[in-house]
Amino acid sequence: MVNLQKKIAQARANCGCTLCGARPVKCVGMFSPSDPEKWPGGPLDKGKKRLAFYGLCDQCMREGGSPEELIKKVETVMQAMFAATGDED
Ligand SMILES: [Zn+2]
Repeated sequence: MVNLQKKIAQARANCGCTLCGARPVKCVGMFSPSDPEKWPGGPLDKGKKRLAFYGLCDQCMREGGSPEELIKKVETVMQAMFAATGDED
């Protein structure tokens, strides 16, 4: 659990808003991707869950819709990022 808090702090410090790139982020959240096998890192060990971290700025939080809509948008953006970078990090 210590690592989790560290990761959240790093995400807050290093990343802009996942949706628009603005800084600072207002909140850092995480979710479990709906199709984790498509995400970087390869297949998951049995019983393990993939977690993705994201940051949102104040404006995207207020204007991005319901929490479910926001997560859907974040997931789409992140998958596009992975598709663009391929396997090189
Ligand atoms: Zn934003």
